[in-house]
Amino acid sequence: MYKVITIPVLKDNYSYVIINKESKDAIIIDVPEFKPIYNYIKDNKLNLKYILLTHHHSDHIQGVDDLVAKTGAKVYGNKIDKDRLPKLDFELLAGQKYDLEGLNLDVIKSDGHTIGCLSFYFPQINTVFTGDLLFTMGCGRMFEGSYEVFFESLQKIKKLPINTLIYSGHEYTKQNIEFAETVVDISSDCLVELNNKIKSNIPTVPSLLKYEIKNNPFLIAKTVDEFATYRKLKDDF
Ligand SMILES: [Zn+2]
Repeated sequence: MYKVITIPVLKDNYSYVIINKESKDAIIIDVPEFKPIYNYIKDNKLNLKYILLTHHHSDHIQGVDDLVAKTGAKVYGNKIDKDRLPKLDFELLAGQKYDLEGLNLDVIKSDGHTIGCLSFYFPQINTVFTGDLLFTMGCGRMFEGSYEVFFESLQKIKKLPINTLIYSGHEYTKQNIEFAETVVDISSDCLVELNNKIKSNIPTVPSLLKYEIKNNPFLIAKTVDEFATYRKLKDDF
């Protein structure tokens, strides 16, 4: 009934569209760039209903105003970050559940990369959008949070069902693997699959939570200290 489309934008960002295949209603996660996203909506004759924003960085929101002007979609973002986000039509609260016309949304507090980051979990489609909190084989830089807060956010993602699909905000997997290999043993099946996608220029999203738990150093980390060690090493990598 629903499908998720990945739209590569800017240099290495991703925007995502959740489409109800019957009604053609659509939800967009982050709008890093107006044109390619609007063209996709128009070419596929979608009714864009909602724009969900993971966090305030310009490479996730800078196409929002133009897209709203063209489509009339409603913008949803974190209440606590409303002053840094485009004008919100609806203020989301971290930890709350919502119903987007039949599609259930769990808003997960994801502070760490910034204070105010949100992840969007849709249980009916086994899918979480993690913005710049968690990447395939890596995690976001810590710009505003603390190691404790960042670690806590990652534990929330880790608790989702193991077959959850993870759609993150950037394609950084090549560099993430290069770093991960220096600190953990990556399973060979996972490595082969990711490297094949990278070589063929295929997005490495979505990744599967169970593979990330096994191979991503930032999810393997069992304590805040271990997480902080990996994060500092990666900053200087
Ligand atoms: Zn960011």
